[in-house]
Amino acid sequence: MMTPDFELLDPRFARFAPGNVHLERLATGCRWSEGPAYFAAGRYLVWSDIPNDRVMRWDETDGSVSVFLQPAWNANGHAVDRQGRLISCEHRGRCVSRIEHDGRRTVLADRFEGRRLNSPNDVVVKSDGSIWFTDPTYGIDSDYEGDAAASEIGASQVYRIDPDGGAVTAVVTTMAKPNGLAFTPDERSLYVADTGISHASDGPRHIRRFALTPDGRGVADDGPVFATCSVGLFDGLRVDVHGNVWTGAGDGVHCLDPDGSLIGKIRVPEVVANVCFGGPKRNRLFICGTTSLYAIYLKTSGAGWPA
Ligand code: MG
Repeated sequence: MMTPDFELLDPRFARFAPGNVHLERLATGCRWSEGPAYFAAGRYLVWSDIPNDRVMRWDETDGSVSVFLQPAWNANGHAVDRQGRLISCEHRGRCVSRIEHDGRRTVLADRFEGRRLNSPNDVVVKSDGSIWFTDPTYGIDSDYEGDAAASEIGASQVYRIDPDGGAVTAVVTTMAKPNGLAFTPDERSLYVADTGISHASDGPRHIRRFALTPDGRGVADDGPVFATCSVGLFDGLRVDVHGNVWTGAGDGVHCLDPDGSLIGKIRVPEVVANVCFGGPKRNRLFICGTTSLYAIYLKTSGAGWPA
């Protein structure tokens, strides 16, 4: 039967929560865990410990935990591209970078129309090879998770890096603090979380859903609100093969049906920033919760590549 680590709020949630499964804590000792990314070929997962300026590594084969990178440019969100390379949002580097197969770091985007980016926060790779990322100011607001600086752009936007030539275009310009993002399984829509309430008491704490243009290179509508967070903030999010949205919140992970309703939760004893699917079957949800890395098995698996 479903354990108390799951909270059923709608009967639709039951089919995704396996019986006798518990939340596991795989690692702890971090200051602010974020940006999980699972590497299927190597069977390991990396995640950020942003204020400690390091990227951690958890090995699925033996459960060991080590420091993957330090200093780490105060890296935040991560993704794995179709070639199996790590894509990283760097607060202190104020860029999106890629670790090549030989280990070298390549800066993919650090400016928009000649001005420095704020502090890229989260990133997703589309099947056409384009890289979409958010650029709020959290990494330049103070010295805590980056280097304090004024915004050169003067706005927090969502950008797309073109797979041919690397041109950076602004795809969403109407958000306060765009944060986590993910595509629907058919890649016809894009979810983006807005955590603008961090800077204005009446600011947004919701996820918007944008329809993409027919060529898949931009958004075609004004992105109506998909769901509003009831506890804390929606930060990072991932989508499963059924189209459910799994997103971090103040009391754990919230599961949102494709119609936007909150159907269930994974209870986590810490504030959750971000999640990702992993494991050989992509049916294990890895959860970055403040000081710790958690994981739980689900009866669903991650959509997209590698999500
Ligand atoms: Mg984030």
